[in-house]
Amino acid sequence: MKAPATEDWVARSLKAVWHPCTQMKHHERLPLIPVARGSGAWLYDRAGHRYLDAISSWWVNLFGHANPRINDALKAQLDTLEHAMLAGCTHEPAIELAERLAQLTQNTLGHAFFASDGASAVEIALKMSFHYWRNHGRSEKREFVCVANSYHGETIGALGVTDVALFKDAYDPLIRHAHVVASPDARNARDGESAADVARRALESVRALFEARATQIAAVIVEPLVQCATGMAMHDASYVAGLRALCDQYGVHLIADEIAVGAGRTGTFFASEQAGVWPDFLCLSKGISGGYLPLSIVLSRDEIFAAFYDDDTTRGFLHSHSYTGNPLACRAALATLDLFASDNVLAENAKKSAHLCEALKPLATHERARNFRQCGTIFAFDAVLEASAAQTFSRRFFEKALAKELLLRPIGATVYLMPPYILDTEEIALLAARTRETFEATLTEAH
Ligand SMILES: *Cc1c(COP(=O)(O)O)cnc(C)c1O
Repeated sequence: MKAPATEDWVARSLKAVWHPCTQMKHHERLPLIPVARGSGAWLYDRAGHRYLDAISSWWVNLFGHANPRINDALKAQLDTLEHAMLAGCTHEPAIELAERLAQLTQNTLGHAFFASDGASAVEIALKMSFHYWRNHGRSEKREFVCVANSYHGETIGALGVTDVALFKDAYDPLIRHAHVVASPDARNARDGESAADVARRALESVRALFEARATQIAAVIVEPLVQCATGMAMHDASYVAGLRALCDQYGVHLIADEIAVGAGRTGTFFASEQAGVWPDFLCLSKGISGGYLPLSIVLSRDEIFAAFYDDDTTRGFLHSHSYTGNPLACRAALATLDLFASDNVLAENAKKSAHLCEALKPLATHERARNFRQCGTIFAFDAVLEASAAQTFSRRFFEKALAKELLLRPIGATVYLMPPYILDTEEIALLAARTRETFEATLTEAH
């Protein structure tokens, strides 16, 4: 049999590739971009059209596609060691990455457990927390707490602490549910309330729950500063500091899911830094490998590690994944950390963000846009839509954006930008102008 024509990538993909987070039938109308190559902030399709990757390819790509410095580091690693198992063996990229991440937490979170994706990191943190209490003779502490509208991944365990109906409802019978506490989303402010007031109010619901059930609760998990997948819901840093205080008071672990907000996304390397506290477990993934390779990491404190350290095998944390600590992925992460160190990235990002915010002013003040908000290099607003337009808004916006050389995928009615950290002045101007044009075009078209 002759191999099918390489030309028809879209038809072949729709037949053989089951795409993630997609109702495949929508692709009868919705375009699929056949990405041929990437360079800097741009993706290029097979016909040579370019698209500004304004959402960093699902929030993972920090320093652009085919970044020469990350590429060089990976090529050298490839010729040295592509992979070795991390049980009974160790290697330099894993050691160095664990040490450097520990240093970034002032050695508070000095133990790195490796996995490959974000949902696994979340499950590892949940299991570690439960197992910690079990090793301390407190196996009744087996409940978890998550925040309303939180997203922590889509495996069955991670869905237990996720509160997004679209991803969760179909699997409800399979899921062990967590307690859901009020969201500190600053958009919940009542008349005259500040974001800090909303945070204080949300913390009261945590206190009430802890008061009643802390003896049964192992941990609370939070996305510090920004609940990304639910539509870039932002909250005051005092919420995270308040959670830390309540966890200390009631003997509950704090898990910071920094999978999306870590690696500089909110303006500090870790979002938790802005709250001035460290969690007991910190989950990292997405941007930590520069968007190159699947990698996730759970950092934890000495006290956690010590609870597992014993002659008894079963008191150890026996969790594993085949590619745990993959040297190539660790090397990509080290090259990413090198870029942070050498290029003054956080300070440069602050300037770029101010610049992009300024350029987005017409959208911030647009009569059909609400709640324009920004945190680090995350920018979002909510479209004001008639009910009939809301259903299809995201898909129609996506399609219109492509025609303007932008890769953007609104979450429901929330339009957001989460660009890589390397945009130049021209790209910032182009992104702001065309986002606005796309918004106007989507609002005015028939739906
Ligand atoms: C993306 C994400 C996850 C899940 O990571 P995957 O690699 O997609 O499994 C978990 N938590 C948060 C906050 C995320 O943004």
